[in-house]
Amino acid sequence: MSSQSAPSIAQPTFRDGDFVPTREVPFSSELDEMIAEIRAGNAPNIGRFCGYCSAPLGKEDSCGVCGETTDRTPAVDKIDRELAQIYHAKRKREGLYVHLAAWTGILLATGLSILMILFLPGWTKVFAVIFLVLGGYFAGVFFGNVLIQGFAYRAGLKMFARRWAQWRASSGAARSAS
Ligand SMILES: [Zn+2]
Repeated sequence: MSSQSAPSIAQPTFRDGDFVPTREVPFSSELDEMIAEIRAGNAPNIGRFCGYCSAPLGKEDSCGVCGETTDRTPAVDKIDRELAQIYHAKRKREGLYVHLAAWTGILLATGLSILMILFLPGWTKVFAVIFLVLGGYFAGVFFGNVLIQGFAYRAGLKMFARRWAQWRASSGAARSAS
């Protein structure tokens, strides 16, 4: 195995299958919701956010996501544009996986019902049609919602971890200079 000397990127931490935010991967589901609302035009980009990871602070002086305190890193009143894009890209990536999985399920069910049409004798071919409709629906839901959720969840967080580290490396330097 060749070991690359690329800077190692922190992996998301999971406890009992659930993501636990850390200082290295400070994904905030609260911020995720907020960014989606802002992008949809339902909320203004204003508030009180952690100066390190941008998680909403409310009235708190320490961040529940990354543990940073406002004494060390002053709170900011806006979500960074690039960070908002990273959150959005994570959602899009997860949605893509879910769609692909759902379509895989639908195609599998369609393939199966074609086989049934070919091999079922006489009037029993009607089952193939029933299977096509119901099987396609349930396979789509099953593949899209059940089977892929965990995978999409982890893949999305991995992508977030990588892009967050890049964002932090670039904007962190800009911030400390100002
Ligand atoms: Zn924070």
